[in-house]
Amino acid sequence: MAKEQILIIEDEEDILALIHYNLSREGYRVSTAISGEEGLRLARSARPDLLVLDLMLPGMDGLAVCRALKQNPETAEIAVVMLTAKGEEADVVAGLELGADDYVTKPFSPKVLTARIAAVLRRRGKPAESEEGLLEHAGLTIHPGRNEVLVDGVAVELTFTEFRVLQFLASRPGWVFTRYQIVNAVRGDDYSVTERAVDVQIVGLRKKLGSAGKLIETVRGVGYRFKD
Ligand code: CA
Repeated sequence: MAKEQILIIEDEEDILALIHYNLSREGYRVSTAISGEEGLRLARSARPDLLVLDLMLPGMDGLAVCRALKQNPETAEIAVVMLTAKGEEADVVAGLELGADDYVTKPFSPKVLTARIAAVLRRRGKPAESEEGLLEHAGLTIHPGRNEVLVDGVAVELTFTEFRVLQFLASRPGWVFTRYQIVNAVRGDDYSVTERAVDVQIVGLRKKLGSAGKLIETVRGVGYRFKD
């Protein structure tokens, strides 16, 4: 079975070997690089489907690699899962805003990493929810066309901004969005929305959604995610 091609960029050899072993065992075609420069070259020539990208690399770091790939239309579609250390939330935020798909914090279990990779590849394989599409998830129903939200069949009154925030998060279950990305998605409707105000919108949303409020998850230091 022809599985996707994955490139791992990681300078720590034991971690590189561990990931290589586990991804190969899952049937992926795996290539590796131990520096950002080498990884970027390989990514450009081999065009993998997904990159496992350590952020802390000597020389060209992971964020610089991610930026270079996303700026080039020929490599912008390559999915990126970042490897980060604890306390690097600011880098995670920067990476997500550059277009990375997800991240795993070290130390991680190979099982978690392979599950995240499979999820990213699965999500990229299917088109994003259309603006008009009805969204239903664990008792929550969102009618984009009607600006209507139901929890267990009962209509919930939301402000327009709250609705847009919810719709944006729910359009991609499982994806982590930074506050900046959320602001960007809902701006144009209300210029007064700031990153700080996103937190206020989320508090209001959770309260109004009641039992469905827990579908909006806080990703500490990074942003928010709609439960997958
Ligand atoms: Ca490293």
